[in-house]
Amino acid sequence: MTCEQAQELITALVDEELLDAERSSLEAHLEGCDNCRRALTEERALKAAVRGAGDRIRAPAELRSKILADRRIFPEAKRLPRRWQDYIWPMPHAAIPAVAVALLLAIALPLFVLLRTSSEPIAVAALESYDLFGRDELPVRRSETPDEIVAQLTRAVDGHFHPMGYDLSAMELRPVAGSVQEIDGRKVLVAIYQGKGGTLFCYTFLGSEADAPPNAARFFDAAKNMNFYAFSRGEVNAVLHREGQVICILAARMPMEQLLALAQSKAKSS
Ligand SMILES: [Zn+2]
Repeated sequence: MTCEQAQELITALVDEELLDAERSSLEAHLEGCDNCRRALTEERALKAAVRGAGDRIRAPAELRSKILADRRIFPEAKRLPRRWQDYIWPMPHAAIPAVAVALLLAIALPLFVLLRTSSEPIAVAALESYDLFGRDELPVRRSETPDEIVAQLTRAVDGHFHPMGYDLSAMELRPVAGSVQEIDGRKVLVAIYQGKGGTLFCYTFLGSEADAPPNAARFFDAAKNMNFYAFSRGEVNAVLHREGQVICILAARMPMEQLLALAQSKAKSS
Protein backbone atom coordinates (compact mmCIF):
# COMPACT_ATOMS: atom_id res chain seq x y z
CA MET A 1 0.00 0.00 0.00
CA THR A 2 1.32 3.46 -0.88
CA CYS A 3 1.13 6.48 1.44
CA GLU A 4 -1.41 8.01 -0.93
CA GLN A 5 -3.68 4.97 -0.65
CA ALA A 6 -3.16 4.90 3.12
CA GLN A 7 -4.09 8.59 3.50
CA GLU A 8 -7.31 7.98 1.60
CA LEU A 9 -8.31 5.26 4.06
CA ILE A 10 -7.33 7.07 7.27
CA THR A 11 -10.58 9.02 7.61
CA ALA A 12 -12.56 5.82 7.11
CA LEU A 13 -10.42 4.12 9.74
CA VAL A 14 -11.17 6.87 12.25
CA ASP A 15 -14.86 6.58 11.38
CA GLU A 16 -14.60 2.81 11.77
CA GLU A 17 -15.91 2.25 8.28
CA LEU A 18 -13.20 -0.05 6.88
CA LEU A 19 -13.62 -3.65 5.82
CA ASP A 20 -11.41 -6.08 7.75
CA ALA A 21 -9.09 -6.64 4.78
CA GLU A 22 -8.59 -2.88 4.16
CA ARG A 23 -8.13 -2.30 7.83
CA SER A 24 -5.37 -4.86 8.26
CA SER A 25 -3.41 -3.75 5.20
CA LEU A 26 -3.69 -0.12 6.38
CA GLU A 27 -2.55 -1.09 9.86
CA ALA A 28 0.40 -2.94 8.35
CA HIS A 29 1.36 0.24 6.47
CA LEU A 30 0.95 2.40 9.58
CA GLU A 31 3.34 0.11 11.49
CA GLY A 32 6.15 1.15 9.22
CA CYS A 33 5.21 4.71 8.23
CA ASP A 34 5.72 7.64 10.62
CA ASN A 35 4.09 10.09 8.23
CA CYS A 36 0.84 8.23 7.91
CA ARG A 37 0.77 7.52 11.65
CA ARG A 38 1.06 11.26 12.22
CA ALA A 39 -1.78 11.85 9.75
CA LEU A 40 -3.89 9.37 11.69
CA THR A 41 -3.17 11.14 14.99
CA GLU A 42 -4.11 14.49 13.43
CA GLU A 43 -7.28 13.06 11.93
CA ARG A 44 -8.31 11.66 15.32
CA ALA A 45 -7.55 14.97 17.04
CA LEU A 46 -9.49 16.90 14.40
CA LYS A 47 -12.48 14.64 14.75
CA ALA A 48 -12.41 14.96 18.53
CA ALA A 49 -12.05 18.73 18.23
CA VAL A 50 -14.99 19.03 15.84
CA ARG A 51 -17.08 16.88 18.13
CA GLY A 52 -16.02 19.03 21.10
CA ALA A 53 -16.77 22.23 19.21
CA GLY A 54 -20.22 20.92 18.38
CA ASP A 55 -20.95 20.64 22.07
CA ARG A 56 -19.75 24.11 22.84
CA ILE A 57 -20.89 26.20 19.90
CA ARG A 58 -24.14 27.97 20.38
CA ALA A 59 -24.76 30.33 17.50
CA PRO A 60 -26.01 33.74 18.59
CA ALA A 61 -29.74 34.17 18.08
CA GLU A 62 -29.26 36.75 15.34
CA LEU A 63 -26.94 34.52 13.33
CA ARG A 64 -29.27 31.60 13.80
CA SER A 65 -32.22 33.46 12.36
CA LYS A 66 -30.05 34.77 9.52
CA ILE A 67 -29.08 31.23 8.59
CA LEU A 68 -32.59 29.91 8.96
CA ALA A 69 -33.85 32.75 6.77
CA ASP A 70 -31.27 32.15 4.06
CA ARG A 71 -33.18 30.96 1.01
CA ARG A 72 -30.12 29.21 -0.36
CA ILE A 73 -30.05 26.95 2.67
CA PHE A 74 -33.74 26.66 3.41
CA PRO A 75 -35.58 27.23 0.14
CA GLU A 76 -38.90 28.95 0.61
CA ALA A 77 -41.71 26.44 0.54
CA LYS A 78 -44.02 28.60 -1.59
CA ARG A 79 -41.64 28.94 -4.50
CA LEU A 80 -41.11 25.23 -4.83
CA PRO A 81 -43.52 22.59 -6.05
CA ARG A 82 -44.43 20.25 -3.23
CA ARG A 83 -42.53 17.36 -4.79
CA TRP A 84 -39.28 19.35 -4.68
CA GLN A 85 -39.74 20.06 -1.06
CA ASP A 86 -40.27 16.37 -0.37
CA TYR A 87 -37.10 15.70 -2.25
CA ILE A 88 -35.10 18.20 -0.19
CA TRP A 89 -36.54 17.07 3.12
CA PRO A 90 -37.17 13.35 2.67
CA MET A 91 -36.62 12.78 6.41
CA PRO A 92 -39.30 12.91 9.08
CA HIS A 93 -39.89 16.38 10.53
CA ALA A 94 -38.40 15.32 13.83
CA ALA A 95 -35.01 15.00 12.12
CA ILE A 96 -35.01 18.54 10.75
CA PRO A 97 -33.64 20.21 13.92
CA ALA A 98 -30.69 17.80 13.85
CA VAL A 99 -29.96 18.69 10.23
CA ALA A 100 -30.27 22.38 11.00
CA VAL A 101 -27.78 22.02 13.84
CA ALA A 102 -25.38 20.15 11.57
CA LEU A 103 -25.69 22.88 8.93
CA LEU A 104 -25.27 25.56 11.55
CA LEU A 105 -22.11 23.87 12.77
CA ALA A 106 -20.76 23.50 9.25
CA ILE A 107 -21.36 27.20 8.64
CA ALA A 108 -20.37 28.45 12.07
CA LEU A 109 -16.98 26.77 12.13
CA PRO A 110 -15.39 28.58 9.20
CA LEU A 111 -17.25 31.81 9.96
CA PHE A 112 -14.29 33.53 11.51
CA VAL A 113 -12.10 33.05 8.44
CA LEU A 114 -11.42 36.00 6.17
CA LEU A 115 -10.39 34.96 2.65
CA ARG A 116 -8.24 37.25 0.53
CA THR A 117 -6.03 37.24 -2.49
CA SER A 118 -3.58 40.07 -2.46
CA SER A 119 -0.91 41.73 -4.54
CA GLU A 120 0.69 43.19 -1.38
CA PRO A 121 3.23 41.26 0.71
CA ILE A 122 1.36 39.02 3.13
CA ALA A 123 2.61 41.04 6.14
CA VAL A 124 1.03 44.23 4.78
CA ALA A 125 -2.13 42.57 3.45
CA ALA A 126 -2.77 41.01 6.86
CA LEU A 127 -3.00 44.45 8.49
CA GLU A 128 -6.22 45.15 6.60
CA SER A 129 -8.02 43.14 9.27
CA TYR A 130 -7.06 45.69 11.93
CA ASP A 131 -9.19 48.32 10.18
CA LEU A 132 -11.96 45.81 9.42
CA PHE A 133 -12.14 44.98 13.13
CA GLY A 134 -12.45 48.67 13.96
CA ARG A 135 -15.45 48.84 11.63
CA ASP A 136 -16.90 45.63 13.05
CA GLU A 137 -16.47 43.93 9.66
CA LEU A 138 -13.95 41.26 10.60
CA PRO A 139 -15.24 37.74 11.15
CA VAL A 140 -14.03 36.87 14.66
CA ARG A 141 -14.62 34.33 17.34
CA ARG A 142 -15.04 36.27 20.58
CA SER A 143 -14.13 34.62 23.81
CA GLU A 144 -13.70 35.49 27.46
CA THR A 145 -10.93 32.98 27.98
CA PRO A 146 -7.53 33.34 26.30
CA ASP A 147 -7.04 29.56 26.29
CA GLU A 148 -10.15 29.10 24.19
CA ILE A 149 -8.92 31.62 21.61
CA VAL A 150 -5.58 29.83 21.40
CA ALA A 151 -7.33 26.45 21.06
CA GLN A 152 -9.69 27.72 18.32
CA LEU A 153 -6.86 29.26 16.33
CA THR A 154 -4.61 26.23 16.69
CA ARG A 155 -7.44 24.04 15.49
CA ALA A 156 -7.89 26.26 12.42
CA VAL A 157 -4.41 25.24 11.23
CA ASP A 158 -4.77 21.60 12.33
CA GLY A 159 -2.19 22.14 15.06
CA HIS A 160 0.64 22.85 12.60
CA PHE A 161 1.60 25.94 14.59
CA HIS A 162 0.32 28.00 17.50
CA PRO A 163 -0.64 31.63 17.83
CA MET A 164 1.66 33.72 20.00
CA GLY A 165 -0.04 33.87 23.38
CA TYR A 166 1.32 36.97 25.07
CA ASP A 167 0.41 38.21 28.49
CA LEU A 168 -0.13 41.92 27.92
CA SER A 169 -1.98 42.61 31.16
CA ALA A 170 0.81 44.98 32.20
CA MET A 171 -0.35 47.19 29.30
CA GLU A 172 -3.97 46.75 30.33
CA LEU A 173 -4.67 44.66 27.25
CA ARG A 174 -6.45 41.33 27.39
CA PRO A 175 -7.30 38.84 24.62
CA VAL A 176 -10.89 39.29 23.44
CA ALA A 177 -11.19 37.43 20.15
CA GLY A 178 -9.51 35.34 17.50
CA SER A 179 -9.72 35.45 13.74
CA VAL A 180 -8.23 33.52 10.85
CA GLN A 181 -7.19 35.16 7.60
CA GLU A 182 -6.36 33.17 4.52
CA ILE A 183 -4.18 35.26 2.25
CA ASP A 184 -3.01 33.76 -1.04
CA GLY A 185 -3.58 30.30 0.40
CA ARG A 186 -1.61 30.90 3.62
CA LYS A 187 -3.37 30.86 6.95
CA VAL A 188 -2.73 33.77 9.29
CA LEU A 189 -3.84 33.44 12.90
CA VAL A 190 -4.92 36.64 14.60
CA ALA A 191 -5.16 37.08 18.35
CA ILE A 192 -6.95 40.32 19.21
CA TYR A 193 -6.21 42.19 22.45
CA GLN A 194 -8.20 45.11 23.79
CA GLY A 195 -8.29 47.30 26.86
CA LYS A 196 -7.31 50.71 28.12
CA GLY A 197 -4.16 50.33 26.04
CA GLY A 198 -6.25 50.35 22.84
CA THR A 199 -6.45 47.50 20.34
CA LEU A 200 -3.50 45.29 19.54
CA PHE A 201 -3.36 42.52 16.96
CA CYS A 202 -0.91 39.67 17.11
CA TYR A 203 -0.57 37.87 13.77
CA THR A 204 1.10 34.50 13.42
CA PHE A 205 1.82 32.54 10.26
CA LEU A 206 4.36 30.14 8.78
CA GLY A 207 6.99 31.96 6.77
CA SER A 208 10.44 33.50 6.66
CA GLU A 209 11.98 36.95 7.03
CA ALA A 210 11.46 37.33 3.28
CA ASP A 211 7.82 37.93 4.23
CA ALA A 212 8.78 41.28 5.76
CA PRO A 213 7.79 44.09 3.37
CA PRO A 214 10.79 45.17 1.24
CA ASN A 215 10.48 48.75 2.49
CA ALA A 216 10.36 47.83 6.20
CA ALA A 217 12.96 49.34 8.54
CA ARG A 218 15.15 46.58 9.97
CA PHE A 219 16.44 46.69 13.55
CA PHE A 220 18.95 44.14 14.80
CA ASP A 221 18.71 43.21 18.47
CA ALA A 222 22.20 42.00 19.37
CA ALA A 223 21.19 40.64 22.78
CA LYS A 224 18.56 38.39 21.22
CA ASN A 225 20.39 37.96 17.93
CA MET A 226 17.14 38.73 16.11
CA ASN A 227 15.90 41.06 13.42
CA PHE A 228 12.82 43.22 13.90
CA TYR A 229 11.10 44.82 10.92
CA ALA A 230 8.99 47.95 11.36
CA PHE A 231 6.42 49.06 8.81
CA SER A 232 2.98 50.67 8.56
CA ARG A 233 -0.27 50.41 6.71
CA GLY A 234 -2.32 53.59 6.97
CA GLU A 235 -2.32 54.57 10.63
CA VAL A 236 -1.51 51.09 11.85
CA ASN A 237 2.09 50.44 12.88
CA ALA A 238 3.51 46.95 12.80
CA VAL A 239 6.62 45.11 13.96
CA LEU A 240 7.52 41.70 12.53
CA HIS A 241 9.93 39.12 13.85
CA ARG A 242 10.64 35.44 13.25
CA GLU A 243 10.68 32.63 15.78
CA GLY A 244 11.80 29.46 14.00
CA GLN A 245 9.44 28.97 11.06
CA VAL A 246 6.80 31.20 12.58
CA ILE A 247 6.40 34.86 11.72
CA CYS A 248 4.85 37.09 14.38
CA ILE A 249 3.56 40.59 13.74
CA LEU A 250 2.35 42.97 16.42
CA ALA A 251 0.13 45.72 15.06
CA ALA A 252 -1.47 48.67 16.79
CA ARG A 253 -2.16 52.36 16.53
CA MET A 254 0.62 53.11 18.99
CA PRO A 255 3.93 54.88 18.45
CA MET A 256 6.42 52.71 16.56
CA GLU A 257 9.06 52.94 19.35
CA GLN A 258 6.57 51.62 21.88
CA LEU A 259 5.49 48.77 19.61
CA LEU A 260 9.09 47.88 18.81
CA ALA A 261 9.97 47.81 22.51
CA LEU A 262 6.98 45.58 23.17
CA ALA A 263 7.93 43.14 20.39
CA GLN A 264 11.51 43.05 21.63
CA SER A 265 10.44 42.35 25.19
CA LYS A 266 8.11 39.52 24.18
CA ALA A 267 10.13 37.86 21.41
CA LYS A 268 11.74 34.54 22.22
CA SER A 269 14.96 33.92 20.35
CA SER A 270 14.90 30.47 18.82
ZN1 LIG B 1 2.70 6.18 4.59
